Amino acid sequence: MGYVKKMGRQIPKCLHCGEQIKYGRTDKRYCCDECRNSHYNAQAKAGRSFRRRVLSQLSSNYDLLDRLVKAGIDSLDLMDAVTMGFVPGVVTSYRRAGKHDEYGCFDIKYYMTRTRLFAISKIQNVSLPLQPDKQRQ
Ligand SMILES: [Zn+2]
Repeated sequence: MGYVKKMGRQIPKCLHCGEQIKYGRTDKRYCCDECRNSHYNAQAKAGRSFRRRVLSQLSSNYDLLDRLVKAGIDSLDLMDAVTMGFVPGVVTSYRRAGKHDEYGCFDIKYYMTRTRLFAISKIQNVSLPLQPDKQRQ
């Protein structure tokens, strides 16, 4: 038994080095173990790097929001915030609050529109969602 090679079938290429994989199973994704390992390592490194970048942006957003709260400023033009290093897409929470989009950066919450941050404030009585309040007597 064998199989007929279909015309125009693409020869698979190694996901790491791009070399054609000329032998082995047709679903092989790497030309050799070294390429497979290198590819996994590169992906893991990219994942760690992405995580570090997001955490760094969250931290930087928090520092800015915290400075605003401490200065009594609860509203800011979004472009001004971005100029100061604020990254709008990095948040720790989101919920629709009435007609507003409420975002969170750790214990600071704010509403954000396309042009403005407002109602920036610290959340009082922060408790972790996974640690429900103890029963009160
Ligand atoms: Zn390869």
